[in-house]
Amino acid sequence: MTRLIFLGPPGAGKGTQAVVVAGKLQLAHISTGDLLRAAVAQQTPLGVEAQGYMDRGELVPDSLVLGLVRDRLQQPDTANGWILDGFPRNRSQAEDLNALLAEIDQQINQAVNLDVPDPVIIERMLARGRADDNEAVIRRRLEVYREQTAPLINFFRDRQQLLEIDGNAAVEVVTDRLVSALKVTA
Ligand code: AMP
Repeated sequence: MTRLIFLGPPGAGKGTQAVVVAGKLQLAHISTGDLLRAAVAQQTPLGVEAQGYMDRGELVPDSLVLGLVRDRLQQPDTANGWILDGFPRNRSQAEDLNALLAEIDQQINQAVNLDVPDPVIIERMLARGRADDNEAVIRRRLEVYREQTAPLINFFRDRQQLLEIDGNAAVEVVTDRLVSALKVTA
């Protein structure tokens, strides 16, 4: 059973890699960013509440995101394993996830960190042109990443669950690195 977390700064290519690796290994791809964008598009109460945070590049409140993840992990397509892409994003979400997984009797195999230098990240984010990808918001998202999400690298390293991958290469090259590293360590 393969259950993975994808860490890494915004623009590191983790969403792209999560989709490709999930396809190759037949895992459910669970992106909290996608789930939130869908809620915003449908203007559900959760989406309406989340939208302002997303537009500013801030994290959406933990309780909203945890509810989405909890529901998603109960769905049948997760039975063969999953990739959590973009969750957890801070220490409290990491602890909530541990508690949730204990409750549903599941465990993480690895937390994958895609390592990409800052200038490459900014260039990639400006190129993709999403609504929350203007330069001021990109800067804020990177700050939030550094302050809140980057400390999770050590959190998972301390638990011997960290897999570090050099993400500064073409998409296919990074995928190959990931899949072979997962084969060895999964
Ligand atoms: P992403 O597509 O993962 O870059 O997420 C886009 C935006 O959704 C982020 O900038 C946050 O506002 C929000 N978001 C996604 N995942 C989370 C999370 N785990 N916790 C809080 N906010 C999140």
